[in-house]
Amino acid sequence: MENSQKIQVLLPTAVDKPFSYSVPQGLSAELGDIVIVNFRSRLTIGVVWKLETESTYQGTLKEIESIVEGHRLPKESLDFIGWVARYTLNPLGMVLKMVLSGSSEKMGSEKKTRQSKLLVNNSPDFTLQGPKLSPDQAQAVNEILQSTETFQPFLLDGVTGSGKTEVYFDVIKEVLQQGKQVLVLLPEIALSSQWLERFYARFGEQPLQWHSGLSKSVKKQTWKMILDGKQAVVVGARSALFLPFANLGLIIVDEEHDISYKQDEQTYYHARDMAVVRAQISKIPIVLASATPSLETVVNVNQGRYKHLQLKSRYGGAHLPALQIVDMRQYAKSGKNWISPPLRQALSERLESGQQSILFLNRRGYAPLTLCHHCGHRFICLGCTSWLVHHKNSNKLQCHYCGYNQSAPTCCPACQAEDGLIACGPGVERIYDEVVECFPSARVLMVASDTLTTMTQMQEMVSQITNHEVDIVVGTQVLAKGYHFPMMTLIGVIDADLGLSGGDLRACERTYQLLHQVSGRAGREQLPGKVLLQTYNPTHPVIAALSSQAQEHFVECELAERQQQMMPPYGRLAAIIISGFKLDQVEKAAKALSRIAPRHPDLLVLGPVPAPLSLLRGRYRWRFLIKASKNFPLQSAIAHWVKQVPLVGNVKLVVDIDPYSFL
Ligand code: ADP
Ligand code: ZN
Repeated sequence: MENSQKIQVLLPTAVDKPFSYSVPQGLSAELGDIVIVNFRSRLTIGVVWKLETESTYQGTLKEIESIVEGHRLPKESLDFIGWVARYTLNPLGMVLKMVLSGSSEKMGSEKKTRQSKLLVNNSPDFTLQGPKLSPDQAQAVNEILQSTETFQPFLLDGVTGSGKTEVYFDVIKEVLQQGKQVLVLLPEIALSSQWLERFYARFGEQPLQWHSGLSKSVKKQTWKMILDGKQAVVVGARSALFLPFANLGLIIVDEEHDISYKQDEQTYYHARDMAVVRAQISKIPIVLASATPSLETVVNVNQGRYKHLQLKSRYGGAHLPALQIVDMRQYAKSGKNWISPPLRQALSERLESGQQSILFLNRRGYAPLTLCHHCGHRFICLGCTSWLVHHKNSNKLQCHYCGYNQSAPTCCPACQAEDGLIACGPGVERIYDEVVECFPSARVLMVASDTLTTMTQMQEMVSQITNHEVDIVVGTQVLAKGYHFPMMTLIGVIDADLGLSGGDLRACERTYQLLHQVSGRAGREQLPGKVLLQTYNPTHPVIAALSSQAQEHFVECELAERQQQMMPPYGRLAAIIISGFKLDQVEKAAKALSRIAPRHPDLLVLGPVPAPLSLLRGRYRWRFLIKASKNFPLQSAIAHWVKQVPLVGNVKLVVDIDPYSFL
């Protein structure tokens, strides 16, 4: 009998290697083909990962069941999967799983799918014109278009309102006209109804969307269109990066500094960084846009790897809002209010002149901590190391890590005192109450991620504010992103210090970015904007940099400090998190790993120690932090190291390359 074709098939599960199969006579498999195989007595889909030209395997191989017609992953997708797995140390199969996540797991089975609504992907209307670009903008567009056939990252840098979006819309139009596909990554797709409306106005057609809220059938159709190389713009959250683009011509990462690009669960990766790799594989340009670029990106610009495109001023001469520090130490004695007299004054002026204001506090709920002032009892989550946050609207105490909640008690469970429970510190609900009390006639809206969950609710919120049905908005960072409200002229930051403490490597950078971004919501049109920052720490470098609008100086200082300590972007970090339901097993595994930790002058292994969040969803957690010099082969050292310790019970070990969370 003739030798049948042998292939290696990668399965979308937690495996690191493909499995060998043979192809039945009469069929012929190609690299990237999606196939149905029998694996551990179950039919499952997989991808042809390798064609075995010379197999040494002598036994009889199981045959694949079938090849799914018209579903061949492009070579670029396969290369990308391999690259991501090697870099992030995620199992190869788990990266494949992200690529296949739209392909519907029932694919290939005989089951009839319900008749579902067809997704239409009309061609955009290329006759629609955008605004005439300023010289800065036009130059940026030209520079990008000069590289459409090569890999080139760009930093598109300009304050909010400087016209970055108009620049990349023009570039998108050109690339689309070449018949190619464009990927636009946004931090949170649900937050971008304004972006979608702008896109529609500009292109006369909706882009394809990609996020967790889509129905299976829409996902499946979108996935197939991308695979078939249809000319299209896909806009999505980080997972859109794993779509099997057959014809990708451009990637845009808007708000590239946003930390929601880092996925910190299941499969750990940073979508911005991996997007750059994706562009490199396809030899196309990638545009990273931001008003407050990440230090990683700044260093890439400084070292000549990324081209810097700068838009110097707000479009049409709108001014950046004036920023005023409110030194809260002055008002510490003047009662229990969270809104200081100057901020209250500014709010009432806006109300009188019919303008709008935002009060910003990046904390959901009513109070972050409830305690009994008789016995000191604090409410904590039994499954996590965290305080329960009081939500007054639902009258519940909630854990913000695992979602556990209980109804708010009226007496202390420890000492039974009836009147002892006090709320410590403010959340947005508490600020809302204070605003309503101070300004009974004002129309006040509260905006937080737990009260706004659907796209429709988001749109409703945006139109309420835009139509001026609201005077004062009290909100969390949901509000900070990209919105454009013409009548918004005052931003009050309730607690500018929140986020500065905690010893997180990026705490300052992140606070700066967030506060800068929030400030950008004010004065976007003719009316001048104003920002009041309440702080107990007015001389802190972040606060000082914000108030003097000395972004460059701040970035320089931060970079100098990182360089001195050999922290990213000058050095490299990785974390290892060991978790399990039994503390002794976790501790034992951590210590076993510690005993055989790699030793090298370019490598420093810190830990193991119990994680700051030492209990999460009932799992005990220990951490290592590994610090290495820039050129040290960190991944291979870690991969080799962790392989040597067998894990018992349900102990789990994850590696987080370039960690952003240290909890
Ligand atoms: P960014 O993305 O940098 O925040 P946008 O692209 O959203 O800035 O531009 C801010 C506002 O200015 C938008 O309303 C936009 O339509 C307008 N705008 C930008 N560039 C131009 C231009 N060249 N002509 C007219 N309006 C412009
Ligand atoms: Zn919890």
